[in-house]
Amino acid sequence: MDFELTEDQRAFAETARDFARAELAPHAARWDAEGIFPREAIAKAGALGFCGLYAPENAGGLGLPRLDATMVFEEMAAVDPSTTAFITIHNMATWMLGTWATEAVRGHWGPLLASGEKLASYCLTEPGAGSDAASLKTRAEPVGDEYVINGAKAFISGAGATDVLVLMARTGDAASGAGGITAFAVPADAPGISYGKKEEKMGWNSQPTRTIGFDNVRIPADHRLGAEGEGFKIAMKGLDGGRINIATCSVGAAQGALAQAQQYMHDRKQFGKPIASFQALQFKLADMATELVAARQMVRLAAAKLDAGARDASTYCAMAKRFATDAGFNVCNEALQLHGGYGYIREYPLERLMRDARVHQILEGTNEIMRVIIARRMLEGDAPDAIR
Ligand SMILES: Cc1cc2nc3c(=O)[nH]c(=O)nc-3n(C[C@H](O)[C@H](O)[C@H](O)COP(=O)(O)OP(=O)(O)OC[C@H]3O[C@@H](n4cnc5c(N)ncnc54)[C@H](O)[C@@H]3O)c2cc1C
Repeated sequence: MDFELTEDQRAFAETARDFARAELAPHAARWDAEGIFPREAIAKAGALGFCGLYAPENAGGLGLPRLDATMVFEEMAAVDPSTTAFITIHNMATWMLGTWATEAVRGHWGPLLASGEKLASYCLTEPGAGSDAASLKTRAEPVGDEYVINGAKAFISGAGATDVLVLMARTGDAASGAGGITAFAVPADAPGISYGKKEEKMGWNSQPTRTIGFDNVRIPADHRLGAEGEGFKIAMKGLDGGRINIATCSVGAAQGALAQAQQYMHDRKQFGKPIASFQALQFKLADMATELVAARQMVRLAAAKLDAGARDASTYCAMAKRFATDAGFNVCNEALQLHGGYGYIREYPLERLMRDARVHQILEGTNEIMRVIIARRMLEGDAPDAIR
């Protein structure tokens, strides 16, 4: 087992670190405070290939392993988890479209999305269907060579600023459950689509979150992704990678916070000496570093499983998401504590990193739902060798 990064992985990480320092770090606090969606910076990320990192090459993506993509996302999230998390969602939606769209739709949207020229949202959650996503009610009715879509989506990242919606809608009857859901690529400006107000959030302020309404929205039948009834599986496959990405954003945020705390402990003096000399704080720092490394390794293991197509990959993605987003939030919170009162004020990035990391425990499946997924695997079927 080789835990060393390859030369390529190191090069990706370095490029991402340089990009993050130059294009994200100087502005992240202002984007957060003023709720600015940094479209230009995202386009620059796209020019480096960061908007289609693991999208297939025939859709204009780099076709990289998920493991390599984590190297890029982690570096960016260390300074701006909010903008990075949007870029990860865009990557997920781009991969879904690139993998399941018809040739014509992939040929049109793939290169535009992978280059960051156009952006995508992932639309699964509804006002009445969150954790129980398979109960979604938005309908896509086949009419001639079109589908007519009616319904509503909630909490959609990037909504109002994106160009294409990867939408999960019901094509089966009301009782059809997960097997009655189909995925679609919907142009975000199609007639009949309306956007709600920009939600006011605790964090993730550099990206808009909105509800989306669909009122007799007509799309050509060839905008379907995969077959009818495959949409829930496609949505979950997207989320396997999405969960690694969000977990990585937590690892990155924690790394950023830890580095700040480490430096601050040398700089800040109380009782006539640097606070780094207090063993209680040294122990705290040691625990933070240990938790962070455990989280990073867990995420990389899950990414490697997904890349290898392992049967238990989804379980590991759920474990990594649960563990790394909890650990990441805790490390950010402890780093804030190590800054005392200064950690609480906006001049320092700690409170922003902590606010941004908080939602990672909630979205792309809450951490309770991650436990449901893990426990289900352990208690059903070929469980005994499920987790080793
Ligand atoms: C900022 C933000 C951005 C988002 N972006 C997107 C996006 O781009 N696209 C998208 O589709 N969605 C998005 N979401 C939605 C997100 O995925 C959901 O909020 C999440 O899945 C939880 O659903 P819910 O909010 O309806 O909570 P609920 O499902 O109502 O859950 C409420 C509580 O009950 C718990 N719970 C529910 N069921 C169980 C159970 N069986 N066992 C134990 N506990 C349970 C939950 O863990 C939670 O603590 C976003 C959300 C936020 C906040």
